[in-house]
Amino acid sequence: MQPDAATPANGPAQTPITIGVLALQGAFIEHITLLQRAAATVTSKHPGTPLSFIEVRTPSELASCTGLILPGGESTAISLIAERCGLLEPLREFVKVQRRPVWGTCAGLILLAESANKSKATGQELIGGLDVRVQRNYFGRQVESFEAGLRLKFLEGQEPFHSVFIRAPVVEKVLGVGGEGVEEGEGTVVAPARRAQKAEVEIMGRLPGRAKALRDQTTTAEDLGEDGDIVAVRQGNVFGAAFHPELTGDERIHAWWMEEVIKAAKAA
Ligand code: GLN
Repeated sequence: MQPDAATPANGPAQTPITIGVLALQGAFIEHITLLQRAAATVTSKHPGTPLSFIEVRTPSELASCTGLILPGGESTAISLIAERCGLLEPLREFVKVQRRPVWGTCAGLILLAESANKSKATGQELIGGLDVRVQRNYFGRQVESFEAGLRLKFLEGQEPFHSVFIRAPVVEKVLGVGGEGVEEGEGTVVAPARRAQKAEVEIMGRLPGRAKALRDQTTTAEDLGEDGDIVAVRQGNVFGAAFHPELTGDERIHAWWMEEVIKAAKAA
């Protein structure tokens, strides 16, 4: 029998994976750079899976993505530009209906929350997808930016992840699945079209007491016998981190997340 023309000699072709980074505002280039660097690790574990990385500015670019990163920046600006580019509804569709894998960092986490406190009175829109309420700018102003070593659930047994927090949000409340318990109020925005999803919110990382983190970048919340602030969460295919892993040059989270995207694509 003749081999299938589409089947290379070394086995069946793997589904190509396209990772998009929303490129409307903020630190999108840094994410692309770190994805490219992490690609070697991912390819060594998934040989034959073609990986490509694109900047996303249009609905058709979004439609070509297997998974998407929403970068840090300014969540109000990103949501306003997304609306003007006709991307806001396609983004909600991508995250909450198609449930393709998505990862938000800092402003990206805010956009993925079902509810956000301390929001601008006008103009802030959320994509939603994570049943949490975040508080914007929880750790203070730009000049109060800081760095801390974090223990993350998926990097267990490894060195703490050196994390950069810049006007970062915190996850102040985990809501019931489907946004249950969400409350509207002054300065609180809520994402529209909530749909119940089966997955629960998992806490993936907590920040040790902040004052201590400033002095000692390796102490963890557990070491201090305290819970610590929630700074990384996951619910099904939606992952959010309050900090900026793309600014440190440490590619471990990008490599881990890309493998999660590959797993989700294979399962779909
Ligand atoms: N404070 C910003 C916001 O509310 C987020 C900051 C960041 O992404 N570094 O959108």
